[in-house]
Amino acid sequence: MANIILTNANIIDCTGADPRPNGWVVIEDKRIKEVGHGRKGALPAKAAVIDCHGQTLLPGLIDAHVHLASVEASIVEQQRRLLTSTLVIKTLKVMRDTLDQGFTTVRDCGGVDAGFRQAVAEGLVPGPRISVSGAAISQTGGHADWRLPSETYAPVTHPAGLSSIVADGVPAVQKAAREQLRQGVDFVKIMAGGGAASPSDELDTSQYSLEEMQAIVFEAESAGKYVSAHCYSDRGIKLCCKAGIRTIEHCNLITESSAQAMKESGAYMVPTMVTYVMISRMGKELGLPDGFVRKINEALDKAENAVAIAVKLGLKIGSGSDLLGPMQVYKGLELALQGKIMGAMNALVATTRTNAEIIRREKDLGTIEAGKLADFVLVKGDPLKDLALFQNYKDNLTLIVQEGKVYKNIL
Ligand SMILES: [Zn+2]
Repeated sequence: MANIILTNANIIDCTGADPRPNGWVVIEDKRIKEVGHGRKGALPAKAAVIDCHGQTLLPGLIDAHVHLASVEASIVEQQRRLLTSTLVIKTLKVMRDTLDQGFTTVRDCGGVDAGFRQAVAEGLVPGPRISVSGAAISQTGGHADWRLPSETYAPVTHPAGLSSIVADGVPAVQKAAREQLRQGVDFVKIMAGGGAASPSDELDTSQYSLEEMQAIVFEAESAGKYVSAHCYSDRGIKLCCKAGIRTIEHCNLITESSAQAMKESGAYMVPTMVTYVMISRMGKELGLPDGFVRKINEALDKAENAVAIAVKLGLKIGSGSDLLGPMQVYKGLELALQGKIMGAMNALVATTRTNAEIIRREKDLGTIEAGKLADFVLVKGDPLKDLALFQNYKDNLTLIVQEGKVYKNIL
């Protein structure tokens, strides 16, 4: 029995095909039963019909790099100041805000554990479907070692928030990866180079030896999972490719030679351009340390060039936001920033079809095709002409459907 029929939609199915006006979609239970355009024959009885008024229907958006548990801009300070309960409750709000922005699925690259994924899957809280990495694994002094250089206590594994594990040497990183896998993560996140938020490293550094990375990849693949690495530097990217890391995040300092290594290894690049723009704009007023903002500005400076190199070499490019704390309401802006370099349709496909591949859910998500899960956003205006429309999501997203359930309808 058909549950919902969407009619009169301009469909961008995100397979890469041109938009088709006057389209319709039949949703049966959680999935897309049928998609077409032009005249639809007799409508099945007992179905709710939603007239899309010629607006543009897209698959539910996917953000392949979020930190739902980054509830404040300073992820280092939030881990010091907030109780576990506060971190969890604030994370639930970020999850709802993310769904409000049209992201029906996200990949969390460090922070939330499998319990949050389960809460959404069971319908306990509104939020995007989540692919989780649990705690990110970092070397001592690496990107997820939150201690200030002056702090000499042993690294603490936090139960919530931006959780991380500091582990050094092959046996320790194996144990750290196995621990995350034991807790049901979808992939393992490691820090393979310096980052902006961390107090003790620079962007152009690499972290972890080849042997340590290979050990983590071995553990993840043994469990049927994969590894994602945070990395900006050329040297780090090359090590990641050698180790068999499947997705490399940020990549701002990529050169043609490291891009070539990615091409050969088949790794996905996940640019996160919007976070540099927003921290550069708002970091100071949000109280972020000078060193953090300085490194972000260095990253911002190279962000467009990195995506341009990836396009030139034909890398597989996903899309992430990596926004922190209150800046997380700007997730939709990533589309416009990537679109400027890649073109609007490619940016839409990166945010849907390619991100679905990244989380290994391409059979269920990422395009509007029969058989897939019924996740949709309907937008006012033409995203191919103006990707910035995703920014004003409260007005411009008129319908959000997740797994066949209408979450928002202001048509
Ligand atoms: Zn991140």
